[in-house]
Amino acid sequence: MEGRVALVTGASRGIGRAIALKLGALGARVMVNYRSGEAAADEVVAAITSAGGEARAFRADVSDEEAATSLVKSVVATYGQLDILVNNAGITRDNIMARMKADHFDAVLATNLRSCWLMCRAALRVMMRARYGRIVNISSVTALMGNAGQSNYAASKAGIIGMSKSLAREIASRGITVNVVAPGFIATDMTAELSEDLLETARAHIPLGRMGQPSEVAAAVAFLASDEAKYITGQTLNVDGGMYM
Ligand code: NAP
Repeated sequence: MEGRVALVTGASRGIGRAIALKLGALGARVMVNYRSGEAAADEVVAAITSAGGEARAFRADVSDEEAATSLVKSVVATYGQLDILVNNAGITRDNIMARMKADHFDAVLATNLRSCWLMCRAALRVMMRARYGRIVNISSVTALMGNAGQSNYAASKAGIIGMSKSLAREIASRGITVNVVAPGFIATDMTAELSEDLLETARAHIPLGRMGQPSEVAAAVAFLASDEAKYITGQTLNVDGGMYM
């Protein structure tokens, strides 16, 4: 990925952090986006640069149209190009539907789906001019299986898959691919909130018998973001230990 420029949203922690580290290690210059965790984002930048790579951090709430647009502009202003966009930023606000507040539906749709649409639209302008681009959007196996207590999250993550296929068709002729990675249960802050009982039940449904690591999701993203994946578009790659098959 020497010579490539990558932007990873929500890269201060968890899966996004692992993706930024991986792309940086492969030689891409990386813009590490975060919403509030400045110290954590700076630590990701330091880890990439101390390994000989190049990275910067940029604060932006990607669910906000102006912020998403200025994030893409900052990448172009800093590095002159944008080749790889990974839409990873995401939140959960779980509850059974009967008790879910509409505010929590809106917040999850805005952070997980609207942000992805806003970021793709902003990046497209740059990628279409260059006639090159790799977009990888992070969904979830919840989009495919459903999950009690996650009607808002499942809707946002299923939306990402439909949106990505539509965009993949729109821009295939411009040398831009759009793919989705759907992680299963991955050990991050997001799943650290779950009870041991629930995690045990989840593990029982994973053929590989354990939760995944952020680096295992990052490896799949790095492949889809690479030049080698040029004949793959509109696909969803599950990284879930076989949970959904
Ligand atoms: P995480 O540990 O909670 O980290 C979330 C990241 O997103 C943080 O860097 C956070 O930044 C950032 N973020 C949240 N809202 C944002 C916003 N509005 N603008 C910019 N950044 C924002 O989550 P994770 O487990 O790594 O999950 C990463 C992605 O994978 C999410 O899309 C999630 O839905 C998906 N996923 C996770 C799992 C899993 O098991 N962990 C499974 C399937 C899919 P700050 O810290 O600065 O707020």
